[in-house]
Amino acid sequence: MQEYDLGIIGGGPAGYTAAIHGALGGQSVVMFEKDCVGGTCLNRGCIPTKAIMHISEVYEEMKNSAKYGISAENVGLDYKKVIEKKDEIVSKLRKSLELTLKNSGVSTVIGEAVLQDKDEILCNGEIYKCKKVIVATGAKPRQIKGLEFDHKFILSSDDILNLTELPKSILIVGSGAIGIEWARIFSNFGVEVSVVEMAEHLVPLADIEVSKRVERIFKTKKIKFYLNNCIEKITDKKAVLKSGETLEPECILVAVGREAVSEFEINCECVLGDACGKIQLAHFASKQALEEVSGVKFDKNLVPCVIYGTPEIAWVGKREQDLEEGTYKKSSLLISALGKAHCDDCTEGFIKILSQDDKIVGAHIVSKEASSLVQQVLIAMQNDISIEKLKEVCFAHPTYSEGIFESLFRLS
Ligand SMILES: Cc1cc2nc3c(=O)[nH]c(=O)nc-3n(C[C@H](O)[C@H](O)[C@H](O)COP(=O)(O)OP(=O)(O)OC[C@H]3O[C@@H](n4cnc5c(N)ncnc54)[C@H](O)[C@@H]3O)c2cc1C
Repeated sequence: MQEYDLGIIGGGPAGYTAAIHGALGGQSVVMFEKDCVGGTCLNRGCIPTKAIMHISEVYEEMKNSAKYGISAENVGLDYKKVIEKKDEIVSKLRKSLELTLKNSGVSTVIGEAVLQDKDEILCNGEIYKCKKVIVATGAKPRQIKGLEFDHKFILSSDDILNLTELPKSILIVGSGAIGIEWARIFSNFGVEVSVVEMAEHLVPLADIEVSKRVERIFKTKKIKFYLNNCIEKITDKKAVLKSGETLEPECILVAVGREAVSEFEINCECVLGDACGKIQLAHFASKQALEEVSGVKFDKNLVPCVIYGTPEIAWVGKREQDLEEGTYKKSSLLISALGKAHCDDCTEGFIKILSQDDKIVGAHIVSKEASSLVQQVLIAMQNDISIEKLKEVCFAHPTYSEGIFESLFRLS
């Protein structure tokens, strides 16, 4: 029997962050991973999708480069190479993570672990006695009745990453981050994309103006979407929608969320990341782990959300529909007002700021670099920096950040 201070089941962002910081803090740490270190984020989630997204954007830009005086005729696409490049990136990052774990002094055990007792983990026939145990077993794609994954026609977000050929058409069920990102990727590659969403608007968790803007962008990209709708039945690879339309996609991606994986008979007091079923984002998982292991606190109400693609979509804090009329100020600045947006030929989008009592309470951004812009606002929000004080900050020109600065003067 081996003994450790800290035993962690799951090697995703929650697990490896807890492991590295636990070890750096002087604890003896063992981490169990049944598949590949890096978890969903590195192997089946954030990283591979953004790698493919980037390639799809390069492809799209090349096809439309004549407007810049660049002639790129007969732009071709070898999708197998796209997947190889994605695998290369994932593998490079995984090796680097394995090395960081090793150099931090973490013992990584590859194998399926079982929590036998509150302080006892069984893996590969060995028992590990741990003073403290963290369960960070992640989540898996949610299935819905009638749309069970067959991994050929009805696909999960895991299956979609390993297609070696592009379909001619795809129907995406759900318009959360995963659904929207894949709709953009496939559309960039020239696939005919349709999205079906049960809610009244796309990206139902976003501020209403963000949802409406995404719908506008999808229309210009000729991505079809069916709102207040769902697939009622599938016969002979035909999807019949509640509204009566029949679609004949080459495949269906079901992206309706993820369910926590935590199936031990013994209850563990410390469950982190996607497994705890709260906010299922990689940065939430790693911040939770850091808080647990190193005591670095974070505000759970200020967790940024980002949807990648062109333009990016990002938000933090309260949405306009959450606020009572007359209790807040609002500013909305079109990205086309910014010089940098014209230089980049990326004028689609807006920056919307919501404030109460001279403090920002929400930011909703559709813009190139929205993922970085939202972070600037978040730092101000978390540190209670007033709008008057923010106005004193010097923002560089030409940048998208200037849009944040300009927005501060338009709150009314
Ligand atoms: C397509 C897609 C795109 C995404 N994009 C983003 C994004 O852009 N930004 C973002 O913040 N989040 C994104 N996410 C979500 C993000 O991947 C997760 O929130 C994050 O990975 C959660 O980390 P975790 O450590 O809790 O779980 P996971 O990363 O799922 O890791 C859990 C690990 O535990 C292992 N495990 C489970 N049971 C056992 C066992 N019994 N023994 C040993 N090992 C076990 C699993 O093999 C897995 O490796 C995306 C997800 C998907 C699917």
